[in-house]
Amino acid sequence: MHTDSLDKQIKTRLNKLQKRLRREVGQAIAAFNMIEDGDKVMVCLSGGKDSYAMLDILLNLQKSAPIRFELVAVNLDQKQPGFPEEILPNYLESIGVPFHIVERDTYSIVKSVVPEGKTTCALCSRLRRGTLYGFADEIGANKIALGHHRDDILETFFLNMFYGGKLKSMPPKLVSDDGKNMVIRPLAYAREKDIAEYAELREFPIIPCNLCGSQENLQRQVIKEMLQGWDKTNPGRIETMFRALCNVVPSHLADHQLFDFKGLQLGFAHGIVPGADTIMGPLDDDEETGANGSGVQMMEKIDILSL
Ligand code: SF4
Repeated sequence: MHTDSLDKQIKTRLNKLQKRLRREVGQAIAAFNMIEDGDKVMVCLSGGKDSYAMLDILLNLQKSAPIRFELVAVNLDQKQPGFPEEILPNYLESIGVPFHIVERDTYSIVKSVVPEGKTTCALCSRLRRGTLYGFADEIGANKIALGHHRDDILETFFLNMFYGGKLKSMPPKLVSDDGKNMVIRPLAYAREKDIAEYAELREFPIIPCNLCGSQENLQRQVIKEMLQGWDKTNPGRIETMFRALCNVVPSHLADHQLFDFKGLQLGFAHGIVPGADTIMGPLDDDEETGANGSGVQMMEKIDILSL
């Protein structure tokens, strides 16, 4: 194919992806009130595709946002052997964004604490998080932006359900346990495959996370493969599952601490989501609900109260 027409195709694809990511990030920011006028947002940059894309889209939105907010990129150099120290500073200087590189040898701590052969990612991430939280205080950032996306959120949800016995995931916005830091995840609505393609087309200088030689948590890997398999065999299922996470009906689960089942009384519908007690069938499989979930509208609704 002629180079000009290939360039044009790449540019068109890039524009399309950028528009979609901008829209999804904008929607997530608005839905969760992630960024407000006057905020100083510390954007955590690991050198992976997700954080590059997050910074890129936030900078883009900053230009047209009706509010004023500051963005400061921060990378934590954890002193993993082989970490190419110059890549991030060079990139950040080239795009003219204020930034800090924080140097902390968490690698040595992790290596001295975790037994040989065991995955080090959990402790490594915890130490990274602690250091970054502390640094946000130092630079007066009132929000910390992390690059987790929709697929990370779903993976974490299944990890907690399968291995932890909890319905719990990574929320798009949360306050740290000590109440001092506000964490936001502006990519919460964005799909990993879009981010990966965008990062490739934008030619971000990616630094692989596994330079340290650690393997990703095996359980997370299993969940990732399960979700990717579903995405292939049941297109639309991932979208439907993510919608479900945004559409919780506490009165139709079984957590008596979340919903006051003990206090439930006839004729009193306090806390019950209107329409929650409606069977929508058939719901056995995604194929039957339609690839993008729109088939739900065609499904027969049976109000059990009228049976
Ligand atoms: S792969 Fe290495 S650097 Fe990345 S989170 Fe795991 S232990 Fe940390």
